[in-house]
Amino acid sequence: MANVNSNQFAANTFDAIVIGSGISGGWAAKELCEKGLKTLVLERGRDVVHLKDYPTATKNPWDFPHRGQMPLSVKKENPIAERCYAFSEASEHFFVKDNEHPYVQDKPFDWIRGYQVGGKSLLWARQTQRWSRFDFEGPARDGFAVDWPIRYNDLAPWYTHVEQFAGISGNHDGLETLPDGDFLPAWQMNVVEKEIQKRIMANYKDRDVIIGRCAHLTQPREIHLQQGRGQCQARSLCERGCPFGGYFSSNSSTLPWAAKTGNLTLRPHSVVHSIIYDDKKQKAVGVRVIDSQTNKAIEYFAKIIFVNAATLNSNLILLNSTSNRFPNGLGNDNGLMGKYIAFHNYRGSITASMDGYMDSYYYGRRPTAVMMPNFRNVYQQQTDFLRGYMVFYTATRPGWGHFTEGQQLGAGYKDNIAEAGPWGIYMMMQGETIPKESSRVQLSNDLKDRWGIPQLKIAVGYDDNDEKSLKDFLVQGAEMLDKAGCKNIATNDSKQAPGLDIHEIGGIRMGHDPKTSLLNKWNQLHACPNVFVTDGACMTSTGTQNPSLTFMALTARAANYAAEALKKGEL
Ligand SMILES: Cc1cc2nc3c(=O)[nH]c(=O)nc-3n(C[C@H](O)[C@H](O)[C@H](O)COP(=O)(O)OP(=O)(O)OC[C@H]3O[C@@H](n4cnc5c(N)ncnc54)[C@H](O)[C@@H]3O)c2cc1C
Repeated sequence: MANVNSNQFAANTFDAIVIGSGISGGWAAKELCEKGLKTLVLERGRDVVHLKDYPTATKNPWDFPHRGQMPLSVKKENPIAERCYAFSEASEHFFVKDNEHPYVQDKPFDWIRGYQVGGKSLLWARQTQRWSRFDFEGPARDGFAVDWPIRYNDLAPWYTHVEQFAGISGNHDGLETLPDGDFLPAWQMNVVEKEIQKRIMANYKDRDVIIGRCAHLTQPREIHLQQGRGQCQARSLCERGCPFGGYFSSNSSTLPWAAKTGNLTLRPHSVVHSIIYDDKKQKAVGVRVIDSQTNKAIEYFAKIIFVNAATLNSNLILLNSTSNRFPNGLGNDNGLMGKYIAFHNYRGSITASMDGYMDSYYYGRRPTAVMMPNFRNVYQQQTDFLRGYMVFYTATRPGWGHFTEGQQLGAGYKDNIAEAGPWGIYMMMQGETIPKESSRVQLSNDLKDRWGIPQLKIAVGYDDNDEKSLKDFLVQGAEMLDKAGCKNIATNDSKQAPGLDIHEIGGIRMGHDPKTSLLNKWNQLHACPNVFVTDGACMTSTGTQNPSLTFMALTARAANYAAEALKKGEL
């Protein structure tokens, strides 16, 4: 602060600062701006303006030099991003270049990142399910991590709040394990998916099969039209950015909404180095930024700070925010910051075929799958592993240009591409993993990035529980498909490293007790309450659901609490 004159100080001072403009940062910006707070959003990447900055959104396959495939040279330069299914010639501009953003893998970890305005909200697969009471009660019941300081009922109204604005499609299925929300009309299962659903549910009394819930506008409501968004066209080209605003992203939804209030200042190219803690005031007073274009250091000031840089970067920023009071990272009195990271176990998948139904097809490219909420260890411990997994499956008819063995050339090939093939089934798991002290991130002592910020060292791994859960899925999944009448059932363990699930959580967990957690029930650092962490870093455990809807609900809840507390002079 010493170098800042008073004019500059005023110009650089806001009511609130939000670090990161992705899914959670977008929500923080929207809620804080709507509450009348002058809000600065600091984003390390470039600006991406909805519609204008989606250069590939309406391209046809033949418009791409490599028809959408990645050249070998690009794959070799980006060995991590390349493992992500969404990385292609049509979307590579929304992924970080591996060599520009190095990190240290103490254990193999595929860290998939999107550094731009909108973050990974442009790239995500948009599957959105609420947590249930079983997920919040899990750690306390099963004796791992620490008890969540909130329960389902604390978050339920905020799930509704974010669902209504984002637009989530789904059925009202009435399941205790996957509470219903305020949904737009659901996508439909095709005939084979329905048949498998019927047979699984007839054979297993403990299993439910439903159509997936996702952040797509199947029938926009007034609030979505006001955002300038329209109906999803089932193109399944989402990771290019959607010219219809058919799926939820920060760029199409929360950020423009926040801007409309007149209270938003969005600053791209702003790499947050650390948070400034004032020993005298005993609170955080601002943020140190490095402008990525000029390399100049700048300071910004605010009464409250929301940390939404995505799980691992939020850990990095707080660990790097050292002061006399907090030599080990802001709020890190107990030394637990960076520990108890978890993720989703995606290793197991199963393929199969289904005879018949050759007179049936389906409409469009549906942006969701069929889902089975977790059925393992829900009401009581039943297996030799803790917790469980969600299952997704789809039935499709490949063809339409896909090669079949022996038909790659000539008339056979032409005939082949004009017809849909027989039905194929794909099933996969999304397994809960247990946060462990040994699964952690730290700052490197010697390696820095190009802005002089320490690189992150990541040591996150599978354990015996994950191996058992994986095995159980492969056995149960194969058995279910067999009972459903499928053939050629083949199980697979991809052995993929953690990280590729892109659902990493933890490191700055919530809890009741400052001795064993970093954040309280409102996502405030116990030891520095004007700093809120509301992205995945705050999560105490993972559940089996896709995480982003929960990040949104936690963020909206915390932002409304923060705005009220500020008004009352409590912060
Ligand atoms: C291919 C893919 C599929 C996915 N599918 C799903 C799914 O189906 N369902 C689901 O729930 N989730 C899914 N996810 C995960 C989802 O994208 C993330 O959970 C979500 O984006 C996290 O939101 P966030 O705000 O924490 O982080 P992000 O959306 O990543 O935003 C973080 C932002 O912070 C910025 N930032 C980072 N460090 C700094 C810094 N030092 N200074 C300033 N800015 C910084 C980044 O540039 C970024 O813009 C998927 C992700 C991918 C990539």
